[in-house]
Amino acid sequence: MNKQKSRECQPCTACCDGWLQIVVEGKPVYPGKPCHHSTGSGCNDYANRPVDPCQQFICGWRMDDSPLPDWMKPSNAKVVVLFNQTQWRGMPVDVAVPVGRRIPPRALNWLQQFAQTRQRGLLYSEQIVENGQFSNRQAAHVYGPPEFQQEMAQRMQSGLPLW
Ligand code: SF4
Ligand code: SF4
Repeated sequence: MNKQKSRECQPCTACCDGWLQIVVEGKPVYPGKPCHHSTGSGCNDYANRPVDPCQQFICGWRMDDSPLPDWMKPSNAKVVVLFNQTQWRGMPVDVAVPVGRRIPPRALNWLQQFAQTRQRGLLYSEQIVENGQFSNRQAAHVYGPPEFQQEMAQRMQSGLPLW
């Protein structure tokens, strides 16, 4: 969505396709309900795209000094990574959202290794399919220290947001 000098979005359209659940010009965008400006391969009004969220948002793959390797581009790895979405007891916590139903094993393994070696928490989601179609609901999974997992499980049971 936003332009960075080193990595380009195209041909990725994960943001515009609704995997992150955003609101564009007052209209909800979610899995199965792409942005009304999305052509499937880009934006039909890119010059006039809204500041929030389109111009402001940048995923973890496109951010400056991204630790994600080239192959983790969301259109290729089928995951959008958002670094430092929250903290738990001083530990940075990253969030990963699938481009599709689930994060593929290769990408999930990479993210779990990264969380482990860098001492970070990882929250990742799985899209819930209802009647053969993507819904706007997700199941959440937690990776990290046991106490972190327990606390996040309690928050989920209590219906509290994880980040
Ligand atoms: S997910 Fe990242 S690479 Fe893909 S369109 Fe959005 S900002 Fe660009
Ligand atoms: S307005 Fe354009 S850049 Fe923004 S979400 Fe829609 S298609 Fe993507």
